[in-house]
Parts: sequence; C-alpha cells; structure tokens
Amino acid sequence: MAVTETSAAARRETAKRTQAEAPRWVTVLGSTGSVGGNTLDVVERYPNDYRVDALTAHSNVDKLIEQALRLKPRFVAIGDEKLYDKLKDGLAGSGIAVGGGRAAVIEAAARPSDWVMSAIVGAAGLEPTLAAVRRGAMIGLANKETLVCAGSLMMRELAEHGAVMLPVDSEHSAIFQVFDFDKLDAIEKIILTASGGPFRTKSVAEMTAATPAQAVAHPNWSMGAKISVDSASMMNKGLELIEAHHLFRLPEEQIEILVHPQSVIHSMVAYQDGSVLAQLGTPDMRTPIAYALGWPKRIGAPSARLDFAKVAQLTFEAPDPIRFPALRIAREALKAGGRQPTILNAANEVAVAHFLGGRIGFMDIPALVEAVLASIPNAELGSIADVIETDAEARRVAEAKVATLRHN
Ligand code: NAD
Ligand code: MG
Repeated sequence: MAVTETSAAARRETAKRTQAEAPRWVTVLGSTGSVGGNTLDVVERYPNDYRVDALTAHSNVDKLIEQALRLKPRFVAIGDEKLYDKLKDGLAGSGIAVGGGRAAVIEAAARPSDWVMSAIVGAAGLEPTLAAVRRGAMIGLANKETLVCAGSLMMRELAEHGAVMLPVDSEHSAIFQVFDFDKLDAIEKIILTASGGPFRTKSVAEMTAATPAQAVAHPNWSMGAKISVDSASMMNKGLELIEAHHLFRLPEEQIEILVHPQSVIHSMVAYQDGSVLAQLGTPDMRTPIAYALGWPKRIGAPSARLDFAKVAQLTFEAPDPIRFPALRIAREALKAGGRQPTILNAANEVAVAHFLGGRIGFMDIPALVEAVLASIPNAELGSIADVIETDAEARRVAEAKVATLRHN
C-alpha cells in the first residue's frame, strides 16, 4: 500500500474510533504563540468536549502560567530550563505537574493524549511532533518546518505508527477539505494561494531597505514574527509547497502557486474533468484550527463570516520571481530532494532571526539561503538523526556567512 493509502486508512480508522469518545484530551505544543493561543480560544468554548492534558512554551513563562491556571492541564513544560523554577513557583499548589528543558517539551508530546496541536515555530518542533507521531496520536500540524526538514521520514513514521496528521496551515486545511484521497488519479494539480504579503507591490529598492517592523506587518493575517517575515519574502509559500508535496503526495510540477491578495480562497484542487474545488473563509486561523480539532466532525468557530458583497472582488496574479526568489529556491530544493529542503529551512531560520535582529537586510534572506544551499553537498537523508545533523550543519554555515556579510 502506498503511504497515502495507508494514511487514508489510518484516518478512516481514527475517525471511527474517536467519534464516540468525549472529552478529547488535547496537548498544545507552543501554547503561548499565535496558533497556540487561537487553539486554546477554540478549546475553551467546548469545556465538555475538550480537556487540556499538556501545554508547552519556550520562554514566555508568565503567559504559560496564566494559561495553565485557566485551563488546568495535567502537565506544563517550559523549554528554557532557566525558567523552570519560575514556572514551578507560579503553579505551586495547583496540582499541575511541571517540567523544564527540551526533554520536558518532548515528554509533553509523548504523554497519552488524544489530539496534539503542533504549533512550535521552526525545526525545534521536529522532535516533539515526532514523539506524538510515534505514539499514534492525532496531530493538528501548524509547524510546517517539521515537514519541510523531515517530510519523507515523517510520512513514513506516520504510516508506521498509524498516526493521523490534520493540516492546520490554512492552505493545506483548505486542500484537505476538498481533496479526494480515494480518487488520486483524478487530481490534476493543487493551487496554493498566497496573499503576496506586505511587499506585494513594493520595488526591489524598497524591499532591500525594508525594516523588521515593515516585514512583520502582514496585510491580512496576524501571526508570529518568523512566519510573518516568511510571508513577506514568500519563503512561507516555498515552505508550504514542500509541506503540500508531503501531505498530498504530489510532485512539485502539480503544485501551483497563485497570488490572491484578498486571502478569501485559501487554496484549491483541480480535477481532470475541469472542476476546481476551493475552500473559502475569512483569514482567521480559528477556522482551520476548529476543523482539525473537531475532525472528523465539524465544530463551531468564532471567525468572522464571509460577506461576499463586502469582499466584492477576488483577484489573482502570478508571483514575481525577481522580487520573490524564495519561491524558485524552494522549488529547486524540493526537486533536488535529499538534504536540500532541510538546509533550506535551517538557513532560512538563521537568516530570518538575523534580519529580525537588524543585522542583515531583507533581501539578504533569500541570498543567504541560496548561498548555504550551494555550499553544502547534497546527500540522502536516512534517518531523523541525519536531519538533525544536517540542520545543525546548515545553521553553522549560515552563521558563518552572516558573519562575513556583516564584515563587508
Ligand atoms: P509564534 O512565534 O507566535 O509561537 C511559537 C510558539 O513556539 C511559542 O509558544 C513558543 O514558546 C514556542 N517555541 C518557540 N521556540 C521554541 C523552542 N525552541 N522549543 C519549544 N518551543 C518553542 O509562532 P506562530 O505564528 O504561532 O507559528 C507557529 C507555527 O505555526 C509555525 O511553524 C508557523 O509556520 C505555523 N503557522 C502559523 C500560522 C499563524 O497564523 N500564526 C499560520 C499557519 C502556520
Ligand atoms: Mg499558510
């Protein structure tokens, strides 16, 4: 059986098994972030149907304590070990178990809950997500970097452990909702829509001089800093291309990217008979989160409803390859396969962090990613350990290149 068929079978099994069970115990990895907070917002609306087993965060300990006291999970973990004592003091007497450090975040994912929101940002989400996959959990995946850096291995693990991955990224949720997994041959292509970000109409000169504040000011979506910069460079769509390739088992040529500034159509699937199926909605992550959280049922979400008369117009344009080279770089990395997507992701994380820190320019981001890709030989990835090693190597090379950039 192909992996997609195995995953479809696992999904059917899980759907049958979980439909009758309430409450659903939920783990939120990255609960203090943008997706994490939106997840808790949906969860809290259904206290009889959802209970929180575990919450994790990296450094925002105050917010984590506040969330824990409100939602009463069984276990809470802070990634930054130095903040463990503060977390422990903040939750003293609450009866909530606490942990600190990377191992505690992984432990939170490994505990036997029903459903896990994977909403840590970056490759830091890989091992916790994998821990949830390996115990056959249902996973709402926001952390796209996990599939970018370890996609094939991750999909194999999913099939092996009967875990189910429900996309939370709005484009992939849209495709998932209209993708006929039983008629794969009838699918011609998928079309990922992109807002075009804050620099859609800006010149190369304006983009070169762009500040972090300008780059994170997304026109339609409110998100964490890293993904906002990725949206501005369109590397986000490059990462989503790779994410879609793994989730839907389609080759790169069958995944099109289309700029749609209104962000109303979240993505589409084109079938061989000429039909195109789309999912539409307002740009509010609580819709795809609710879809994944409730699956296979549908549950309510408080997102604003679409008012077509107000939207008035839906427009589309091809992405500009000159101002947004990240799309080409990501496509080439996907085509090359092996370590390249892992390197692409790690180099991009380093570049974005330095851009946000004011140390490199906005257009240095894709240039740096491309330079790192060119300087590390490609090879197959045999294991998750290879992924972690490649990620670390790409970060070292990227840091060295940033240092030379800054000396010029
Ligand atoms: P964010 O920066 O708002 O939140 C990130 C969360 O991860 C925080 O809770 C933080 O504490 C935790 N974290 C960060 N580094 C960590 C580490 N080293 N170890 C453990 N935890 C760590 O990010 P976000 O915007 O919520 O995005 C989260 C993920 O979801 C990203 O992969 C992003 O691409 C994806 N996503 C986000 C949106 C959105 O609307 N924000 C939409 C689609 C996909
Ligand atoms: Mg998206």
